[in-house]
Amino acid sequence: MSAFENAMKQLEEAASAVGEQDVEILKEPKRTLQVSFPVRMDDGSIKIFRGYRVQYNLARGPAKGGIRFHPKVDLDEVKALAFWMAVKNAVIDIPYGGGKGGVEADVKKLSEAEKERISREFIKAIKDFIGPKKDIPAPDVYTDSKVMGWMLDEYEKLTGEHSPGVITGKPLSLGGSKGRAFSTALGGVYLLEAAAKELTPGKKAAIQGFGNAGSNVAGFLSERGYKIVAASDSKGGVYTKQGLDVSALIEHKKKTGSVINFRNAENITNEELLECETDILIPAALENQVTKENAPRIKASVISELANGPITPEADKILEKRGIIVIPDVLFNAGGVAVSYFEWVQNNTGLYWKEQEVLDRLKEKMSQAFAEVLDASKKHKLSLRKAAFALAIKRIIEAERDRGNIK
Ligand code: GLU
Repeated sequence: MSAFENAMKQLEEAASAVGEQDVEILKEPKRTLQVSFPVRMDDGSIKIFRGYRVQYNLARGPAKGGIRFHPKVDLDEVKALAFWMAVKNAVIDIPYGGGKGGVEADVKKLSEAEKERISREFIKAIKDFIGPKKDIPAPDVYTDSKVMGWMLDEYEKLTGEHSPGVITGKPLSLGGSKGRAFSTALGGVYLLEAAAKELTPGKKAAIQGFGNAGSNVAGFLSERGYKIVAASDSKGGVYTKQGLDVSALIEHKKKTGSVINFRNAENITNEELLECETDILIPAALENQVTKENAPRIKASVISELANGPITPEADKILEKRGIIVIPDVLFNAGGVAVSYFEWVQNNTGLYWKEQEVLDRLKEKMSQAFAEVLDASKKHKLSLRKAAFALAIKRIIEAERDRGNIK
């Protein structure tokens, strides 16, 4: 099944679990833009790149969600990711709809200058579609604050105005927010803390993916006394029962380009990581990692989705039957967009907050969202994912009704 088919399955299951009937409006994105644009490569040749921006739902506010660069990006995936953003933004109750963008590009094969030209050309191609009150991009897989800086600059050059609120996850010098660089990971950690009483997950964690979210969550958890028994990236993973020295591992990846071949640890594959001996499994890479094939072999008692869409609906069912608790992406990784929202508020007001204020507000958002989702899950006897989706769908549909878009 495709990512979007999976997303629609989740929608239907949650809607039927709570008897919500008016969900037709959520089965199609509101707006979809596909663009292609030429970019001059370093060797002088011209290459055509394809990109997408999807505004899934706009009832609760402007579209909001990241832009990823990945060779396998396609419209189906971006639609799924945009839908999940609409759900996520409603779960944590921030005044946004959902959106997402992507460019089919293999960052590992690009020079810095080529990456910059792709970023700028993509913005040229979508500039009328986005805006601080229309659709607000941010970083995602293989994009970061540097890319956001180029994109903001291009947008402002094209429009002739300063508009820091058009994009979040920017460098601090351009109106970025303190805390945004690590807020996806820290939001997840705050959530685990809020959930600790309910879920008592244990202190061993395995992390698939060692990008911004994965490496930061490894750092925060090990500072808090968790043992990171395994970590991986696109080249493979490492495992040690004793727990990895996370700061040394981060250094090792910086030097060698990967976590593999780390001293005192055994090399494992990404598949082995998912099935390793651990209390908490944290997928922090891409979609469709836990499937009906490997779900029966997962040993973790809690899976916290730092990636978007890492568990297929079929795998979800198997995990639920096996009593494995899944903290869903739309809740667990919402700290990224929560601080994006704070960044946008700061841009709109022109008043910039201290880091502690950002972190206090993030903590409050995450614990409030967890409490509401937990409450819904107990009330309707649903998994956390279904409860989170049900809560979000209710909020979105309410906004659509209040607008008179559905009666
Ligand atoms: N890309 C992140 C996500 O998937 C953050 C989006 C944002 O900050 O708008 O939630």
